[in-house]
Amino acid sequence: MIETKPLKNPSLEAKSPFELRVNLGRDIPESDVRTALANGSMGFLHSFTTGSTVDGPGVRVVAWTTGCHWRCLYCHNPDTWTMSNGIPVTVASAIEELRKYRYGLKIMSGGFTLSGGEPLMQDRFAVKLFTAAQLLGIHTAVETNGSLGSRLTDAELETIDLVLLGIKTWDAKRHRQLTGMEIGPVLDFARRLAARRKPVWVRFVLVPGLTDDAKDIAQIANFTASLGNVERVEVLPFHQMGRFKWKELKLNYTLNDVKPPTIDAVEVACAQFRNEGLKAY
Ligand code: SF4
Repeated sequence: MIETKPLKNPSLEAKSPFELRVNLGRDIPESDVRTALANGSMGFLHSFTTGSTVDGPGVRVVAWTTGCHWRCLYCHNPDTWTMSNGIPVTVASAIEELRKYRYGLKIMSGGFTLSGGEPLMQDRFAVKLFTAAQLLGIHTAVETNGSLGSRLTDAELETIDLVLLGIKTWDAKRHRQLTGMEIGPVLDFARRLAARRKPVWVRFVLVPGLTDDAKDIAQIANFTASLGNVERVEVLPFHQMGRFKWKELKLNYTLNDVKPPTIDAVEVACAQFRNEGLKAY
């Protein structure tokens, strides 16, 4: 049991996703959680931020879900791993919140992004939110590790305008060490999105000594370019902003001594993607 105290009077609106949040949904009976997950009537959110310019095109409202079955060594939001760390939110109240922003988001060419955690852990809730957002004329995006894409039917995929797909590393063994999970389902989802011509932005976190192997990056770049539907690649430099969460949650953080990559190293990685004809930032 995590002993860190929950926030007092927690609010969904967060200054940033880097706020530590734990146990906010612990009073919800397990049976209610299961029902909510099955029908999507309720979801669990770590937080809700407005005015993001880094989670898809334009200015965006971002809802951060709790629940992730991966264990990435560099995860900067390990408090999102456990579903019950989130605030329980009915789908109706989340849609009401989105409704407030619909005109502003349109003016700022933005939209709504569901991030996490792994949003597709709450796939029924996600589909309901995306469907409602599209009906409000709001552009929708999901930021996902891609492993649960098979939970969505082809029709449900159409409720998502853009997929921000994380590709963590290429080598299967390294992927297992880095995330605790297999890369196969991620690549299957990427191929399925390509077959449906769904716009995708690939996100790749550059971690010195862990994901910066040039051959590995070259293979990701080659695969990404072969898909034909990837509009851009974002090379995200590793940072230590989540380290305090690992400490607070008494988790074993193994990257204490890892420094963020240099600007040059990020540029070299970007160049590898550009060499394959991709836009990379
Ligand atoms: S997939 Fe994302 S949320 Fe899940 S452990 Fe990895 S970095 Fe963290």
